[in-house]
Amino acid sequence: MRVAMIGSGYVGLVSGACFADFGHVVTCVDKDPAKIEALTRGDIPIFEPGLDDLVATNVKEGRLSFATDLTEAVRSADAVFIAVGTPSRRGDGHADLSYVYQAARDIAKVMDGYTVIVTKSTVPVGTGDEVERIVRETRPDADFAVVSNPEFLREGAAIADFKRPDRIVIGTDDERARRVMAEVYRPLYLNQAPILYTGRRTAELTKYAANAFLATKITFINEIADLCEKVGANVQEVARGIGLDNRIGGKFLHAGPGYGGSCFPKDTLALIKTAQDAGSPMRIVETVAAVNDQRKRAMARKVIAACGGSVRGKTVAVLGLTFKPNTDDMREAPALSIITALQDGGAKIRAYDPEGMEQAQSLLEHVTYCDNAYDCVEGADALVIVTEWNAFRALDLDRVKGQMKAPVVVDLRNIYRADEMARRGFLYVSVGRPDGA
Ligand code: NAD
Repeated sequence: MRVAMIGSGYVGLVSGACFADFGHVVTCVDKDPAKIEALTRGDIPIFEPGLDDLVATNVKEGRLSFATDLTEAVRSADAVFIAVGTPSRRGDGHADLSYVYQAARDIAKVMDGYTVIVTKSTVPVGTGDEVERIVRETRPDADFAVVSNPEFLREGAAIADFKRPDRIVIGTDDERARRVMAEVYRPLYLNQAPILYTGRRTAELTKYAANAFLATKITFINEIADLCEKVGANVQEVARGIGLDNRIGGKFLHAGPGYGGSCFPKDTLALIKTAQDAGSPMRIVETVAAVNDQRKRAMARKVIAACGGSVRGKTVAVLGLTFKPNTDDMREAPALSIITALQDGGAKIRAYDPEGMEQAQSLLEHVTYCDNAYDCVEGADALVIVTEWNAFRALDLDRVKGQMKAPVVVDLRNIYRADEMARRGFLYVSVGRPDGA
């Protein structure tokens, strides 16, 4: 099969490289010339474990190439995937679909022969209808189908998720398109990945329902954590106690600083808008978004309280900036709000992240970036662990204490034990656990 991938970001590049690895011939297109130049040179513009090897192998074997112009790739393609961004529209929280519609127009102008246009971007219900309308308007003669195939991969584990998905959702009523999609994903049938064929609108909504549900699960356990702190219970044990129930499941039950990232915040907002517009408001998701928003600032207040009520003139060391480990993605990372709130309170910030500092530099001001965790805590009045990178899980705690001005640790990911930290002489605060846990 020949595949064109329009948009070569976190989703497009991973999906394109994986399809090439299945044996398809793939061109990843991006309008950003710097990205395509880097990829052509063999540099990967994002951090995603394993992606550099996967791209290099498939380029070498002639199955994966890159372009800024989509003409050649689209003309020869059996399937053209749209994997461009759908950020929140400024002001109202609706998904900004301008990149998707532009891609649809660009594809329509050059497509040749029967073409399956597949929306992989996360798009609100009804977007497929509009893409179809745009393509038909641009090219009334065209022979095509528009399919919804939302992507469920997680950054940091994207290749494994793409190659061994829990399920593949394909939304189309067009029998020819269904056959093309079956061929594109055929290598995964052999792994027995369940493929769910649905209507297009159902597929579009399934993606939002999944993300909103996961965001709700995280927010639920975060509120249980707050309650644990008030009543002297341990949220990790509560999470295990409920997670062992198969109806609930143990994943996404880690209390922390609130969800962030490029998907949950924008997708919950977009679902809320869609639901309001449809006259069927989703009050649970509305509450989840509001609770999560407040939580990030609440985490800054937790740090301020641990510092004795004020951080004015104090130095706070922040370990971990990205919204989760194993990515360089800083979009909507809780660290952004937490750091800004601490700076508003008068703190000076030192920070270290294994992969996120380059992106962070364009989003935060007046932060001193450090070379490693020990450099970061030097002279600090408090240490805040915001992201649970493996490198932070087994720090030499005596060295950390020796370098800090005051031994205050706020662990927003519960990666250390309170009794151990107390024994080593730290004033230790975590999330939803009693002091001795
Ligand atoms: P991204 O910002 O990393 O990448 C989007 C890319 O599209 C950019 O490189 C941009 O230059 C390019 N682009 C925009 N318009 C273009 C056009 N007309 N022609 C060619 N290239 C164009 O975004 P992402 O994180 O990969 O997300 C893409 C979509 O996938 C979003 O809808 C997102 O919600 C969804 N998604 C993301 C994830 C994730 O973990 N990042 C997971 C599942 C779904």
